[in-house]
Amino acid sequence: MEQSLSYIINQLGEDRELYYGAVSPPIIQSTNFCFNTVQAMRNRLKEEFCAPFYTRGYNPTVAIVRKKIAALESAEDCMLFSSGSAAIASAVIAVLKQGDHVVCVKKPYSWTNQLFQTLLKRFGVETDFIDGTDPHNFEKAIRPNTALFFLESPNSMTFELQDISAVVAIAKNHGITTMIDNSYATPLHQKPIEMGVDIVCHSATKYFSGHSDVVAGAVCGSKAFIDRLFSHELMTLGAIISPHDAWQLMKGMRTLPIRMERVNKTTAQVVKFLENHPKIQKIHYPFSEKHPQFTLAKKQMKGSGGMFSIQIKTDNYDGIERFCDNLNHFLLACSWGGFESLAFPVCAFTDTKEEYKYDIPWNLVRIYIGLEDADELITDLKQALDKV
Ligand SMILES: *Cc1c(COP(=O)(O)O)cnc(C)c1O
Repeated sequence: MEQSLSYIINQLGEDRELYYGAVSPPIIQSTNFCFNTVQAMRNRLKEEFCAPFYTRGYNPTVAIVRKKIAALESAEDCMLFSSGSAAIASAVIAVLKQGDHVVCVKKPYSWTNQLFQTLLKRFGVETDFIDGTDPHNFEKAIRPNTALFFLESPNSMTFELQDISAVVAIAKNHGITTMIDNSYATPLHQKPIEMGVDIVCHSATKYFSGHSDVVAGAVCGSKAFIDRLFSHELMTLGAIISPHDAWQLMKGMRTLPIRMERVNKTTAQVVKFLENHPKIQKIHYPFSEKHPQFTLAKKQMKGSGGMFSIQIKTDNYDGIERFCDNLNHFLLACSWGGFESLAFPVCAFTDTKEEYKYDIPWNLVRIYIGLEDADELITDLKQALDKV
């Protein structure tokens, strides 16, 4: 049965009779759970992963949020982690074995990149990074030992998309598992599992939490996969979310739909202003009509949220710094998805332009639009661009 968004956010997984009718579920801040008899203990050990025994495995507060995120992603089950990176690394490790090959999109999230470039290499897993804008590049990169396609659509600096259904079709033809980082879009804007993707990962630190106060991650997939992930990678690597953080996350998620609605509306206004500004060389936003993959974005996404990037017309770091240093409302910080608007200039990676060797343009500034008033943000950007 299709569950409404409103039901999932407000009720699913909550059983108030279990906790005195409390409207807000309690934080079950307990490491362990006790039993009256040995037989009761023995019985519980048989279902350690779906009922309370020890909090590294199952915690009732965490369980509420797992149900909600799984339902949002149309997944059978969901596992929560202490960070998005822990979620991605655990899920990837769960799929792979020594000698496997991975095809990953170019320019994935930086620590996903590290995972494939460095950590997994030590264990005999090789990765090819490809331009994911053409699905054929996935097919061309397939080797006999290819076990995983890793997608990030859109990626989080320059926002290139992959045609998810087309890539899934190729993967299914070759018996390859597909995994996507869906942090940018959230299930409100993009439902990869409904497009055939096997596993969906999230940095729940971003939109799900929404208040810049929790670091958390999620993995969604089939019950069989999540069971395996649970009893192996989660229990051995142990990167669990705390009950308190899970509760904070749930609180953030209560307003996810209205925050996304607000952010979409404000961002459209800000992007429109920037698109016509003489100091802007290029804007990267999937829902901008000028984005080369706008048609694909409209096809597979319902919205594009609050994050995009701009390339500023200037010859040197000074121009970028004058723009950023003069922003009043936008904070200079990493991350995104919270209530506050942010700017992240990639020129912060090196001291000088000459040292800059990344595959992202040096004059790029990533912008995140929070919950502030659109006019206030536009006025701020305008005065800061005038200083370039
Ligand atoms: C932030 C981020 C991550 C990592 O999540 P953490 O919660 O910071 O560990 C992964 N993917 C994307 C796209 C991100 O923006």
